[in-house]
Amino acid sequence: MSNSDSKPARTWRPRTQAVRGGLSRTNFRETSEAMFMNSGYVYDSAEEAEASFDGTLDRMVYSRFKNPTIAVFEQRLAEIEGAPACRATASGMAAVHAALLCQLKAGDRVVASNALFGSCHWIINELLPRYGIERVFVDGTDLKSWEAALSRPTACVFLETPSNPTLEIIDLAAVCDLAHKAGAKVVVDNVFATPILQSPLELGADIVVYSATKHIDGQGRCLGGAVLGSTEFCADILGPFLRNTGPCMSPFNAWVLLKGLETLDLRMERHCSNALKLARFLETRGEVARVLYPGLESHPQHDLAKRQMRGWGSIVALELKGGKQAAYDLLNGLDLIDISNNLGDAKSLITHPWTTTHQRLSPEDKLSMGITEGLLRLSVGLEDGDDLADDIAQALES
Ligand SMILES: *Cc1c(COP(=O)(O)O)cnc(C)c1O
Repeated sequence: MSNSDSKPARTWRPRTQAVRGGLSRTNFRETSEAMFMNSGYVYDSAEEAEASFDGTLDRMVYSRFKNPTIAVFEQRLAEIEGAPACRATASGMAAVHAALLCQLKAGDRVVASNALFGSCHWIINELLPRYGIERVFVDGTDLKSWEAALSRPTACVFLETPSNPTLEIIDLAAVCDLAHKAGAKVVVDNVFATPILQSPLELGADIVVYSATKHIDGQGRCLGGAVLGSTEFCADILGPFLRNTGPCMSPFNAWVLLKGLETLDLRMERHCSNALKLARFLETRGEVARVLYPGLESHPQHDLAKRQMRGWGSIVALELKGGKQAAYDLLNGLDLIDISNNLGDAKSLITHPWTTTHQRLSPEDKLSMGITEGLLRLSVGLEDGDDLADDIAQALES
């Protein structure tokens, strides 16, 4: 691998980093990034192998530890995020699991917001207690309940903002402040905002996690995840955990995802403008009881979203007056928008959280998270926004 074209990368702005960050061309001088689909590496001598393992020689030894294509993805995402370091994982859930378990031990305490992605909720609610880790859930929008929960020493805070599917906004700066006073490291699931719309590290968070499956790929092709944080955290705490437990990203997926990063900013622009257009359109429809979108003045935390985000994202939630039947009628009447539980895709996708993504929660838990039987979550894609509005209008009328 040639480093002859390494440039002063850190001075570039995020949009340039998205296209060129981490680029390291081989001697063939290819334009686009090469894909290294190899598990292992060879050594020219026994001495070189020894030096590679005792750390005197910094080189690739095994793709569970390090791979050139995965390294480009990691460096590029770190540059966009403005994070000192990044480690890629096989999926978003592998990232969440590793980010938490690598730093927690029996007797620790974790405080988390209540409105979480289903599997994140499962890890904190079901898995952590098996290892003797205490967990406390709070209403993420209520600073008083964060304050009460963080009045005792705490190892870790986990939260998601905007939340899935009701788009609650958590005050990152205020919660990070309370968490640090309690001695906690703050882990933020930044999937809905993406690095383009929100920078949790700048607001005080210690660690950011992504499902790269969502907007970073954004084209429904592969799974991936990432954990970003300080160099010490990634090298000394997360690194050994990943190296020895093995939830590594495939080099093929890393290549797909690093190409996804090149267009992420452009795609988010269209996602956001389409979503705002649809949110405003839905507000005019009599069949719709409420529309939840951080960009609407009617959103209860619109001002907070404006302070900590650079855009409102691709997800709109809407509640139909006619409950579950009206929600199903709308889903079944759609022609263009697909029924799917994925999100952040180029294709617009819609789901009924009560019976799909959040089906396993009790009715009381769903209602406490603002999920009603008439609620739909719409992931607004890159199509023409007028076609999307037309499709929803004809489905509401049919
Ligand atoms: C999808 C998602 C995850 C999990 O990511 P996978 O890549 O599906 O494992 C975690 N958090 C949020 C907010 C998500 O939307």
